[in-house]
This record gives sequence, C-alpha cells and structure tokens, in this order.
Amino acid sequence: MNAAPRCAGADPCALLREDLRDFAGYRSARSEALQGRIWLNANESPWANAGDAEGALRRYPDPQPTALRAALAELYGCAPEELLVGRGSDEGIDLLVRALCRPGADAILVTSPTFGMYAVSARLHGTAVVDVPLRDTVEGFACDFDAVAAAALARPVKLVFLCSPGNPSGTLLPLDGIVALARRLEGRALVVVDEAYLDFAQAPSAVDAIPEQPNLAVLRTLSKAHALAAARIGCVVAAPGLVDALRRCQAPYPLPAACVAQALAALARPARAATAARAGATVREREALAARLAALPGVRRVYPSRANFLLVRFADAQAAFERLLAAGVVVRDMRAAPALGDALRISLGTPAQNAAALAALAGAAA
Ligand SMILES: *Cc1c(COP(=O)(O)O)cnc(C)c1O
Repeated sequence: MNAAPRCAGADPCALLREDLRDFAGYRSARSEALQGRIWLNANESPWANAGDAEGALRRYPDPQPTALRAALAELYGCAPEELLVGRGSDEGIDLLVRALCRPGADAILVTSPTFGMYAVSARLHGTAVVDVPLRDTVEGFACDFDAVAAAALARPVKLVFLCSPGNPSGTLLPLDGIVALARRLEGRALVVVDEAYLDFAQAPSAVDAIPEQPNLAVLRTLSKAHALAAARIGCVVAAPGLVDALRRCQAPYPLPAACVAQALAALARPARAATAARAGATVREREALAARLAALPGVRRVYPSRANFLLVRFADAQAAFERLLAAGVVVRDMRAAPALGDALRISLGTPAQNAAALAALAGAAA
C-alpha cells in the first residue's frame, strides 16, 4: 500500500484540497508492484486483435512510462519525479484546478487576454475566475505583478495562471517577476507558468526556480514546436509531492501506448535537432512577417511576439479576415476576446504560407 506522502510547512502540498490530502486515487492493475510470468490480473485479452499484428496494444499501458518521463525530464531540465506526463497540457490545467480548488469556494486567477482553457476548467469545476488584465503598453502587453498579488491575496485564489510567452499576447514575462510573485503568494497559492510557446522564445524556463520556490509549477507541451498536437503529450513540472498528488487525481491510463511511442521517437536526438532548427526558422519568419505587416496601411499594430504567432490589430479586422479567407487563409479571429475588438491572431506557417497571408492582406490594403 503506497500511502499518500505527508506534506507540511512551505511544501506546496499544503495547497491541495484538504479532502484530497489522503486520497489514494484508483488502484489500477498496472500500479500494483507485482512480479510474475502469467498476467491474469487486469481482465485483458490473452490474444492480440487481428488488426494489431504486433500485439502492441493488448495490455493496458504504463500510467507514467519511465522512458518518456526520463526523456521529457531531460528536455525540460528537471528530475523525473518533478514531472507528470498527461494528455496534453490541457489535462495538466484540469488536474491542477481539481486538486487545489474546492468547488464553490476557491478561485483561480488569470490575466486576460489569455488562453481560454484555464477559465473553462475552472467553470467546469465550479471555481470562480478572478481576472487581472494585462496592461497594453507601448512595448506590448505586460503583467502587473503587484495587481496580481493584491487580487490573489484579497480572494481565496489557489492558482495563478501566467502564460509566458502569452497566448494571444505574445509577451514573455520576466522570470524575476514570476518568482517574486510566487514568493509573495507562498502558503496561499500555486503560480502556474504555461510555457507552451517557450521553444520559440529562446529564453530560460521557470523550471529552474521550482526547487527554491516550490509553489511554482510549469506546463510544457509537445503540441506546438514539437509538431505532435495529435499525440496529446504535455506535462506538469512541479515539486515531487505535488506531482504525486496530481497523479492520484489523474485517469488510470492517461497515455495511449501508440502516442508514447511517437513521443519517444520525436525526442530522439536527430528529431530533436530538427525541431530546434525549425523553431529557429519560425522565429526568423516571425520577425520578417511582423516587419512586413507593420508596414501595411490597414494594420494598426503588430504586437511583439516571442511565440509562433503574431497578434495584429487592423483598421478593419472584418475586411482583413474576409480577405484572408477569400485567399484560403484561415486565421484566428480574436475580436470576442476582452480588449481585442480589432485583432486577429496569425500563426506562423511555412515561408510560402506566410507569404500567401501577407499577399492577401497587402491586396486588402491596396
Ligand atoms: C496550445 C496551448 C496549450 C495546449 O497544449 P496541449 O498540450 O495541446 O493540451 C496550452 N497552453 C497554451 C497557452 C496553448 O496555447
């Protein structure tokens, strides 16, 4: 019987829902540490499916595959015990909300405009959302850390979601500001840094600060720079006790074996080098496209971006959107987001795709 580890003091496990602190979760057949030759404990089929020639899918998969956990830990610069692999970082967001927030009582804090899943997970869990909007400055969107700290301390906020680089803001938040915020919220809230786009920022990760400031957690994903969105592989990096607690809240077998195999192939040396080269090329495309867009007459503003997209304000966003669609180019309409009533978000594509988007917009401006 593996009892839930006890946590105390500044340990971030003190932030877990009190009613879940001793929760052991589901004891799957795979989680029992037993040895044997003939496995008759999980009601699996003894025969492979005729469509699964290798029999690779006959058994339930490892809940946290050791090789994948090790490869991701190496990639993100942490120990394997500090990393939980899940079904995309979307699952990490959901697990954090469920494990830390009491429905109907606690709250999360977001800084709009930001990624929509934080509020969706909170809403599904009966958890209030406190918004401290980013400030729109001459340098781009910026986080007001003092306002975030004050709002978090004034309400029962258990989770502060910071997105860096931000989606859709494109802003990279200063690491010292993030760590100082976590220090101010110690014992009160976990500061979660969503680094889905950090591969395009060529900047250090908040992962390095977790050992000294364990009420920090980081989300990473293989969906963007690693081009593996359909495999649904993402992770939470956090203090080991918190990772164990999140694991106990997770579905028994979150990772399909075929996706794990794909992820391992994508993290092998040659593939990783190609991924890094592509991210570098995307960064160069981003800077070139930003400059060309900013020179178009119908463009009001191109925000500086450290991610693989550009947030652009237009004099007539509807006309720009339609002009792009008429050329077969689909971009993200941001006009429903707070403070982005004239904005579109354009993901960086191949050089030819980016040129097509630019040509469509240049035509619209003419
Ligand atoms: C795309 C995105 C994610 C989703 O990641 P998955 O690992 O595919 O679930 C998470 N956070 C942000 C900010 C994103 O833009």
